[in-house]
Amino acid sequence: MNELLIFMCDGAPVRGEIVSIGTAWKDVLAHRNYPPAVRQVLGDFVAAATLLSASLKFDGTLIIQAQSNGPIQLLVVECKTDLTIRATVKLSVTPSEILDSASLGDLLDANHSGRLVITLDPATRHSSQAPYQGIVALKDDDGFVVKPVTSVSEAIMLYMKNSEQLDTRIWLASNTTNIGGLLLQRLPNSGGHAHLDPQIALEGWNRIQILGDTVSNAELLTLEPEKILRRLFLQESNEYGVRSFPPRVIKFSCRCSRQKVADILRMLGEEEVKSIVAERGEVESCCEFCGKTYHFDAVDCRQVFATDLLSDATQPPSSGH
Ligand SMILES: [Zn+2]
Repeated sequence: MNELLIFMCDGAPVRGEIVSIGTAWKDVLAHRNYPPAVRQVLGDFVAAATLLSASLKFDGTLIIQAQSNGPIQLLVVECKTDLTIRATVKLSVTPSEILDSASLGDLLDANHSGRLVITLDPATRHSSQAPYQGIVALKDDDGFVVKPVTSVSEAIMLYMKNSEQLDTRIWLASNTTNIGGLLLQRLPNSGGHAHLDPQIALEGWNRIQILGDTVSNAELLTLEPEKILRRLFLQESNEYGVRSFPPRVIKFSCRCSRQKVADILRMLGEEEVKSIVAERGEVESCCEFCGKTYHFDAVDCRQVFATDLLSDATQPPSSGH
């Protein structure tokens, strides 16, 4: 089960998605041994990334980054338009220091430092064009009360609210072998749903959310999306109509390559690379997403600097960074 199902309600201005990921999630975890609490948070973020990616009319990579001064220093999940995923977590403590009971706040909001950054990096863009980026603090601040965010779904919904997206509800679940999620989005009262009376449309949105609230973690983790859709929305489908589209496949895929490592070596500079080779006999670089290791011996390194392949993306970073 590595599927994402999109559906539309006829009796309410609602578009929905159900995702169920099995082997692709195992591939994400294959080379890493995350503490259970970290794995749980990462799984929820991976499910959320696929749901958000499939909800956007956008060709490129959606990148969710969560960063903090807490035990999770950086968490990165990437989902491309074709629903290929990769993800990694960088911890600031040894894994054994993280309790199984650690909450999202414990892991990602030490001293209220937690931030969620969502980036949309288009597949094709001009070099001068910056990718779209939205940032939210991991707390719900309505101007009166500041509440820390307690779950990944809450964090994502907060992001959606702050970025003035459509009303969105998200349910997420993950364990060691599976992750799953449900997304419901209220569509604007136009387009295909323009025929709905505003009161009927509001009632419909409320009705669908109540049905969404009945989904259990067990369902999200064990059933394929079509079964979940039938369970939750059978009556809605019989009474008003619910249409689903052919499921889309989710796969694990890493974008690392020997060429990209060579680009990083060029950014480090010849002197630095030479000194590493002198000290260790080679340069070794391990991909944090897939665990693949790249080796560059003295001959390889000479070749890296013999060719004049500097492109814009590999210019050394400007001072001040
Ligand atoms: Zn990789």
